[in-house]
Amino acid sequence: MTADALNTDAHSAPASTDEDRERSAIAALSVEEKVLLLTGADSWRTQGAEALGLRPMITSDGPAGVRGVIKDERSPSSSLPCPSAMGATWDPGLIGELAAALGAEARGKGVDILLGPTINLMRTPLGGRGFECFAEDPVLTAAVATAYVRGLQSAGVAATVKHYVANDSETERWSYDARISEQVLRELYLVPFEACVREAATMLVMAAYNTVNGVRMTEHDYLLKEVLKGEWGFDGVVTSDWHAARSTAATALAALDLSMPGPDGPWGSLLARAVEEGAVHPEVLDDKIVRLLRLARRVGAVHTAARPARPGPAGPSGLIDPGLVRRATTRSFVLLKNEQEALPLEPAAIRSLALIGPNAFQPTIQGGGSAGVVPASVSLPAEALARALAGQAEVTAAPGCETWVMVPEPPAGSLRDPVTGEPGLRLEFIAPDGSVLDSEHRSSAALAWWDGVPPGIGWGESGRITLATRYRPEASGPHLLGAAGVGRLVISADGEVLADAETRVPADPVEAMTRPGEVRAMVLLEAGQEVAIGLEFSPAADGEGPLALSFGIALEADGDQLIADAVAAAASADAAVVVVGSAAMTESEGFDRATLTLPGRQDELVRAVAAVNSRTIVVINAGMPVLMPWASEVAAVLYAWLPGQAMGEALADVLFGTAEPGGRLPVSLPAHEQDAPVLHATPQDGVLHYDEGLLIGYRGYDRSGTVPQFPFGHGLGYTTWSYEGMQLGTANLSPGSDLEVQVAVRNVGSRPGRETVQAYLEGPPGDGTRPVRVLGGFAIAVAEPGEEAVVTLRIPARLFARWEPGAGGWAWPRGQFTVAAGRSSRDLRLSAPVVSA
Ligand code: BGC
Repeated sequence: MTADALNTDAHSAPASTDEDRERSAIAALSVEEKVLLLTGADSWRTQGAEALGLRPMITSDGPAGVRGVIKDERSPSSSLPCPSAMGATWDPGLIGELAAALGAEARGKGVDILLGPTINLMRTPLGGRGFECFAEDPVLTAAVATAYVRGLQSAGVAATVKHYVANDSETERWSYDARISEQVLRELYLVPFEACVREAATMLVMAAYNTVNGVRMTEHDYLLKEVLKGEWGFDGVVTSDWHAARSTAATALAALDLSMPGPDGPWGSLLARAVEEGAVHPEVLDDKIVRLLRLARRVGAVHTAARPARPGPAGPSGLIDPGLVRRATTRSFVLLKNEQEALPLEPAAIRSLALIGPNAFQPTIQGGGSAGVVPASVSLPAEALARALAGQAEVTAAPGCETWVMVPEPPAGSLRDPVTGEPGLRLEFIAPDGSVLDSEHRSSAALAWWDGVPPGIGWGESGRITLATRYRPEASGPHLLGAAGVGRLVISADGEVLADAETRVPADPVEAMTRPGEVRAMVLLEAGQEVAIGLEFSPAADGEGPLALSFGIALEADGDQLIADAVAAAASADAAVVVVGSAAMTESEGFDRATLTLPGRQDELVRAVAAVNSRTIVVINAGMPVLMPWASEVAAVLYAWLPGQAMGEALADVLFGTAEPGGRLPVSLPAHEQDAPVLHATPQDGVLHYDEGLLIGYRGYDRSGTVPQFPFGHGLGYTTWSYEGMQLGTANLSPGSDLEVQVAVRNVGSRPGRETVQAYLEGPPGDGTRPVRVLGGFAIAVAEPGEEAVVTLRIPARLFARWEPGAGGWAWPRGQFTVAAGRSSRDLRLSAPVVSA
């Protein structure tokens, strides 16, 4: 394969004068200079080139915030609702606004390229990274994703849609081979990518770790070169997922443009040699550099200095306006059930509220992995609800059970730096010869580094990191100490070594940060009596990924007593709010969940509380579906996702009715695990068969006639709607045209409200492999009590088409379709026929 395997950029926009100039500058570079540009300079930066006027560009992870190049409490970020929550807003306008604000924050942090959004589909509810996806449906995903990309890029920051393609689960994510028919790729998994390229001009696409139909995505000539760059005309940069490029010529020829991170990797001098040997044509390199420079021009990285850190829209902090984040959060909450108008709670009408559940006190505001940020502050449900009721009702609090897997971080204010006395701890970096290389005060006990540790410290080095702090316990009793990291960990208390052990090296490098091994020790402490805690961490010789160290401490608790205390609190209160959900390591990049059951004794807790309080309101703090075996026993259920920094205040807004819960389910919630059309995604001998074809999510439930616990699209507000009429733009649609649909709805309740009007497309009858109905379009209606609102939505032409494997393209079957409009995929109120002729 030489010249004929060229990727000549033939499908890109016509070369501008800038590009002509750049091409001659590129031509003057040596092959060595060229290949240097195509691999990252370090974990997050691309290489600069003075001869081209190109400065390094800075990448940083999203999508629920922008971390910056360090994960450090001294450089915090806004923490947004997780992407499944963004999907639950069904509000592209709001997501565009949020993404534009995120772009401004990214610019303030000097970031040029955000590594997001994630636009894979929620194929299985167990998918560890499902919280990072917008929906189980491609049309909803595409609508939210294009708004996100446009919003972000309007702030001058490039979006990277990821992970192209079929990275829909985490088990063996580095290597699994997704076997998917082309029809299913075209009609489902490629849809959001195509939309982000064609409609939102995303500046980057990230090629995934996995293999599709036997070919690694970073080497996928057909999907990268022919479909993405050829058919769709993508003129931006294809970057590898981090360490996903694992060959030299095959990746270069298949149109991967950038190998990240650097400075090592399979390109560099190996690529230069491949060019010299004729395996890769020199023009292949030129095209990649043209694309990099085009990206650099778009983000202002050519002939400019590094981005000055400048304040974002909220002022000098550079963080997003917290009011916007809070509003978006309330719009993402989905009210699933509300018997006898249990919600909203009238503060004046309740004298006492029992606030129960582990997540009311230690919520999980974000999922684990690269999407994590260090939030500047977090509004805790327990604090925010108590504040909202102050002076009006008595609030009793009881966590009810524990769900943590790794010993949790000590409560704020309980640690003291032994050197300065400030709240927090002291870190020291110790050279192999025992000398102290650096010493710093830190206020967080959860630490991670990609770069930036002193030389001699890290995987395969013999330096160490030590942590010292003074802990003041609130209560007397046995306390569990935990130290987590990949390598050797030594824990001591008041100078006595309590534990000294090595943890295992995980298979997936990201687990060094998300799920490292933990060493534990038990110590008896007296309330109020400080103890000196010491940790020593020697990173493993063969470790990989981010270096991370964390420290936890917790009083040993009696599980039965915790439930009994919660029941007592609920029994004597007018209403009980129970916040349950995922624990810190339940949902994460790097692994899939093993079960949809809530961790720990949470189901038992909800049932016990509901048995003594008829006004039990359950709030679920999870990024993906969980089972609710007690759903019929409680008065109300509110899905709050992994809501980011504004969790507590947004909950107060919604529970007390200052805001209407605005969300609708972007994913079906199963009644039983076995009801999910696709449950486990464990490859068999490295192969993951997408045998369900088009039937994921609601498409699968509808086809098999299985009733979910709560269906796709479902969500209640605080008013009632009547669907009064629907009009189609035409009754005879010509192939290739969109269909306009008008729906009239009336607010027949007593409060102002917002309604997400959904239109589904059904038919024409096919074989059992096609969905019964698919989401066609949606729009938001806003109306005062008694008022009518008419919304217009557009069903895209493509939904009337089928990918015909034989014909090698889109075909428009003739026949009758039905448009059905309503409140969810299972609550359709109006319908009308349309003939495709
Ligand atoms: C993840 C990407 C992420 C990258 C950089 C990878 O492991 O899959 O989503 O952007 O790391 O952190």
